[in-house]
Amino acid sequence: MGIASINPATGDTIKTFTALSDAELEAKLERADRAFGQYRHTMIVQRSRWLQNAADILEQKAQTFGEIITLEMGKPIAQAVAEVNKCALVCRYYADNAAEFLADRPVATDASFSYTAYHPLGAILAVMPWNFPLWQVFRFAAPALMAGNVGLLKHASNVPQCALAVESILSEAGFPSGTFQTLLVGADRVPQLLADDRIQAATLTGSEGAGISLAQEAGKNLKKTVLELGGSDPFIVMGSANLEAAVSTAVTARMLNSGQSCIAAKRFILHNSIAEEFERRFLAKLKALTVGDPLSPESDLGPLATSSIRDELHQQVQRLLKQGAQLRLGGELPAGPGNFYPPTLISDIPSGSLADEEEFFGPVALLFRVSTIDEAIALANRVPYGLGASAWTTVAPEQQQFISELEAGAVFINSMVKSDPRLPFGGIKKSGYGRELAVEGIQEFVNIKTVVID
Ligand code: NAP
Repeated sequence: MGIASINPATGDTIKTFTALSDAELEAKLERADRAFGQYRHTMIVQRSRWLQNAADILEQKAQTFGEIITLEMGKPIAQAVAEVNKCALVCRYYADNAAEFLADRPVATDASFSYTAYHPLGAILAVMPWNFPLWQVFRFAAPALMAGNVGLLKHASNVPQCALAVESILSEAGFPSGTFQTLLVGADRVPQLLADDRIQAATLTGSEGAGISLAQEAGKNLKKTVLELGGSDPFIVMGSANLEAAVSTAVTARMLNSGQSCIAAKRFILHNSIAEEFERRFLAKLKALTVGDPLSPESDLGPLATSSIRDELHQQVQRLLKQGAQLRLGGELPAGPGNFYPPTLISDIPSGSLADEEEFFGPVALLFRVSTIDEAIALANRVPYGLGASAWTTVAPEQQQFISELEAGAVFINSMVKSDPRLPFGGIKKSGYGRELAVEGIQEFVNIKTVVID
């Protein structure tokens, strides 16, 4: 598939785009390099003003950008508008806090004066996914631009209009020409970009395969990378949990973005004492969800972003059922146009099945039962991923055990895993490395320079 906007709700091609030629790409790299030469010397208060302008534009045109998102990747419109507003939030967060995060840090040594300084690196390549097509980009761009870097975006090939929208928002906000550019290119051009001396580092949010491939190429060129990859997050419910809150949150945690979120709860690990009741209520709530036109405010779930994503998900469901699991809801391809997939619930999953290895990137909830907290933790940690984990218990020692033993970049007790500009975000194991957001996020792409004056 080339670079194209295809409405996932109808299958209609909205617009196609031609990938940049080598000469066009070269011109953009040259522009980025020239821009960095100037931009690195801009005052941080100036960068902050531009980023606040970007936040204003995002908020003022949230509906317009929300519609672009929904038409390109199919998420329900209210969620698309909420995504745009969250982008404004991350812009304001870094506009307000970057000066403090990047201030020189005096360190007492034997020298007359010594300190740590945080200097920009140059052009950073961002390879981004379609599932939160504005948020994923802004959570990279806001800290990178505040740090004085310039950005080059290679977005997923199915969201070119979102990619161009980000460039135009930042340009309209006042960021100088070349500071942030969208490169309409396929994944096949990434190696050539990583080999280019004008690009200093790269970040990728996407699948494990894409992460491995980018990291290999970056490694050949000795360039730093941050990888935000897949997840198969556990959602553990113990006997003491507030069951109604846990069930309601479980529905949102699995079905948000039509199930296409890296930090979605994917495996529901239930203590035997509450499992039956949890499953009964969960099933009822999933049945009550409306799947339909993502532009209608009535729809809880829209279509999946592309037909191949739906095909892959459906095949995974079929394979899991063949391995002995039981289908409790959904699991059938609906007739008609669009990439719709129903909320699906699967139980009685045997140990050693593909659920121990693979991520289900769509509205499919997997149920497991356990009799002890140790069993719950062992099951939670059994997958190769380690992004987020949600655990529900009111017993303090159990909370502490989850916090210390769950293998994940984030543990949320009695709430769902979500990102917040104020908290670092990232994974361990095959969910990747490095952190975005918070102070840790802005420090990923800076030269942490030691300065000693005697
Ligand atoms: P994907 O196929 O890996 O695509 C992500 C981006 O990587 C796209 O821009 C894609 O370009 C590019 N890409 C693909 N193969 C590449 C390669 N070999 N070398 C360089 N770039 C390559 O992922 P997706 O299916 O769009 O997204 C779903 C995955 O992302 C899931 O696994 C999800 O969990 C993960 N995700 C993780 C996070 C996180 O923060 N940890 C957040 C969101 C999503 P093309 O579109 O041109 O192929």
